[in-house]
Amino acid sequence: MHSYPILQLLPGRERSLLNRHPWVYSGALAKKPSAGLKSGDIIAIADQKNQLLGFGHFNQDASIACRIFLFTQSPIEIDTQFWQNRMQKAWQCRQDLGFFNQENAGYRLFNSEGDGLPSLVADVFGDTASLQIKTQGMMNLKSTIVDFLQKLGLKHIYLKSENSDESGWLLGKKSDVFFEEQGLRFLVDLELGQKTGYFLDQRDNRKLVGSLAKGKNVLDAFSYSGGFSLFALQHGAVKVTSVDASEQAIEICKKTVAANFKDESRHHTVMANCFDYLRDIPGNEFDLIVLDPPAFAKSAATVEKAARGYKDINLMALRQIKQGGLLFTFSCSHHISRDLFRKIIFGAAKDANRPVRILYQLNQASDHTIDVFHPEGEYLKGFVLYVG
Ligand code: SAH
Repeated sequence: MHSYPILQLLPGRERSLLNRHPWVYSGALAKKPSAGLKSGDIIAIADQKNQLLGFGHFNQDASIACRIFLFTQSPIEIDTQFWQNRMQKAWQCRQDLGFFNQENAGYRLFNSEGDGLPSLVADVFGDTASLQIKTQGMMNLKSTIVDFLQKLGLKHIYLKSENSDESGWLLGKKSDVFFEEQGLRFLVDLELGQKTGYFLDQRDNRKLVGSLAKGKNVLDAFSYSGGFSLFALQHGAVKVTSVDASEQAIEICKKTVAANFKDESRHHTVMANCFDYLRDIPGNEFDLIVLDPPAFAKSAATVEKAARGYKDINLMALRQIKQGGLLFTFSCSHHISRDLFRKIIFGAAKDANRPVRILYQLNQASDHTIDVFHPEGEYLKGFVLYVG
């Protein structure tokens, strides 16, 4: 037996759960949940014959009514030890993969569904962890999470919640958080920065930019804290231009460049809307362009509009890049599949009327784990294009 309220599914709606997909949409429930149930409660999910399918966190008034964290037909009690084991497994996976090393002091420790910890993200930057928690169910586990991270030796923990009242330091406030990635020092703005404060998902792709940047004039469009710019500068780019619409992103980028290079004359920042900036760049100027925009498609309903946005920026870059230039182009919307993104690039290349070869197909860094049963976890896709 277990002590959790049971939510039953409509006939046939158990199929996705039998395939271990962890999201239960409110429309899949046989009955409206009882009024006593509140967001964050642990619930048991059962099929129409009352066969137990798993346990999850309930979310009131959300389209995803329940996020399953355990698929099982045997009733169990979910205690602190259960969560500690889950976190330990995520940690073990990073240990096995060697993420926690001298070269990379930054890595993703918990990646939500990818680690069986729905809605919990933890990025580690040296002795500091930055958490993002999106559901009440995970929020209720805050102290268990902090205990675990403290045992790992982390000294500072910041929580970035969707609800800004809940955001703040959970352990040891710290003002400037710097960490090292492959010989470069990066500044993480936990309090005002975006997402967890730094985009670790582009780690491998930045390294690739570095390896191809020597002697090049580089444009880093949607630069945020300048991750790509820094790698290009480190590896001998002759000029690097970082463009972002956010004043604060430009400030972090400038500070980061200053923390790494005595002579900053090769680096230029521009605060601008990249759609306008790209429209006006002269042809035959940039040898290497990075396009790493925010997710244009936040929902399935906005895919078409987003596709137009992706096509526009790629078309402008493909038109203007030098002959023999390299375009690193990304989409981080999980609603835009790799296939669709490739079709968008195809359309842009056709309109730009230039020969385009695909050199590399890129992904999110592997500490941003993807549960094979939850394809939505694969959000970042990129192509490196050679433009003849
Ligand atoms: N390339 C970065 C991450 C980019 S995140 C890195 O490696 O860290 C996306 C960035 O796009 C954010 O910094 C955001 O401020 C910026 N942005 C969003 N819309 C923009 C627009 N229309 N023009 C310019 N920058 C934009």
